[in-house]
Amino acid sequence: MSISRVAVVGSGPNGLAAAVTLARAGLAVDVLERNAWLGGGAATREITLPGFRHDLASAVHPMALASPFFQSFGLAERIDLAVPEMSFAHPLSGGRSGFGYRDLDRAADAIGRDGGAYRAFLGPVVDHLAGTVDLTLNSLLRVPRDPVAATIFAARVAEAGTPAWKARFAEEIAPAMLTGCAAHAIGRHPSPALAGGGLLLAATAHAAGWPVPVGGSQAIVDALAADLEAHGGRIVLDRGVTELDELDEYNACVLDVGVPAFLDLAGERLPAKYARALRRYRHGRGVSKVDFALAGPVPWADARLGEAPTVHLGGTRAEIAQAERQVARGWVPDRPYVLAVQPSVVDSTRAPEGKATFWAYLHVPYDSDLDATDLVTRAVEEYAPGFSDLVLASVATRATDFAEAVSPNFAGGDFAGGAVSVAQMVKRPVVSTAPWRTPLDGVYLGSGATAPGPAVHGMSGWHAARTLLADHGVEAPSLAPSVTRK
Ligand SMILES: Cc1cc2nc3c(=O)[nH]c(=O)nc-3n(C[C@H](O)[C@H](O)[C@H](O)COP(=O)(O)OP(=O)(O)OC[C@H]3O[C@@H](n4cnc5c(N)ncnc54)[C@H](O)[C@@H]3O)c2cc1C
Repeated sequence: MSISRVAVVGSGPNGLAAAVTLARAGLAVDVLERNAWLGGGAATREITLPGFRHDLASAVHPMALASPFFQSFGLAERIDLAVPEMSFAHPLSGGRSGFGYRDLDRAADAIGRDGGAYRAFLGPVVDHLAGTVDLTLNSLLRVPRDPVAATIFAARVAEAGTPAWKARFAEEIAPAMLTGCAAHAIGRHPSPALAGGGLLLAATAHAAGWPVPVGGSQAIVDALAADLEAHGGRIVLDRGVTELDELDEYNACVLDVGVPAFLDLAGERLPAKYARALRRYRHGRGVSKVDFALAGPVPWADARLGEAPTVHLGGTRAEIAQAERQVARGWVPDRPYVLAVQPSVVDSTRAPEGKATFWAYLHVPYDSDLDATDLVTRAVEEYAPGFSDLVLASVATRATDFAEAVSPNFAGGDFAGGAVSVAQMVKRPVVSTAPWRTPLDGVYLGSGATAPGPAVHGMSGWHAARTLLADHGVEAPSLAPSVTRK
């Protein structure tokens, strides 16, 4: 069948990546978005006070530079990405801290006694980052293009994702830094799936870095939308799709939706075996987030913590593992792992002059209705006494709120679009080298519930669109910017 008109359901980063790819291939593309705004988990809005711009979900973008999709799209040429010298910081009690400088040697030197071991663990992954990205941002069932990178990566995952994680380090800072990165996804530690994600993040932290888009994550979305519209695509807001029958006027569609939503949209159309496989797909645990408008920068006791846009709070490796175990048991930890982002450190456009925005979340059981304001405030106060005096306003987004407030793909607060386990990274959402193709003719799935999984990388949408094009004999287009910014 030849194709001319395609619908993309959902304008998250994956939906827009798919839409841009399809429009560049010459197809007429409509993006149908149920929200009144664009961008899903990469939207930025004023939700506390006028002049304070908050990222509704994603805030820091290691994949903006590392993702092959964004590299093809030339994202770094289209928007301003502020890349800090320190990718992340990780304070511990007693005035000790880990500093994730981009320069691996500098980070290792700051660690002290375990610095050499930290460098020896991460250095080879950093040196083979392109191969590691190729391995992890495609279907894990594909034969790796760089076997050396794959071997190095697998050996380190086998160490950091198992009880062998205790072997390498003598002190607490280095393992805390690595676990702080691994805990960006939610689950019990040690776990190979979390270690794999953490390793990719830690390696990018010490390579191109963890950029923050100037103006907010929305800058990424707006660049994608501008390219889409420049190539004839249309975006329709306030247009939720509830069943596939609504898309009959299109030859094909890419769905930027989660697995339960896909089951609902497709209804009886899905073959029973495939539907059963999708019903076995498990959601992950949730996050409970708080956005703060601050009268000034966070008053960290150690001023160096104010250099990193991303700060991991939650203590030592053992303490983080304990908190994550509690979440896995269905409890809210009293001393949680808190992922905090202070974008104003590198981007003065987020708040009126002298003021700052601050974003933090902790892990909670799926669909928890916990308001995390007190727990986050307590966690930050531990390292930044006086933080609460600076709070001008705050907005809590509970795990139960995410589907409505941000994206249905984050229902229950599951920001990963499905549990991050080894099994579910291999079958995402089904076991296939092309999991973006569904058994329904012309229907493709391209959200973070498909390989390679969560984060703003656009890869799931790009893979879905390229699979669609290949299935219809259309060559994948170049995405390079036609006009570069001055
Ligand atoms: C609190 C939080 C913090 C995060 N931080 C980071 C971070 O710092 N860095 C990072 O890389 N990643 C981060 N993530 C993860 C990242 O946001 C997601 O992995 C990413 O947004 C997934 O993109 P997506 O396009 O698959 O889905 P989404 O971003 O969820 O977009 C899906 C879009 O589709 C729309 N939609 C869904 N169903 C329908 C329908 N039936 N009809 C019409 N429209 C529909 C939704 O409204 C939404 O706009 C974070 C997520 C959360 C929740």
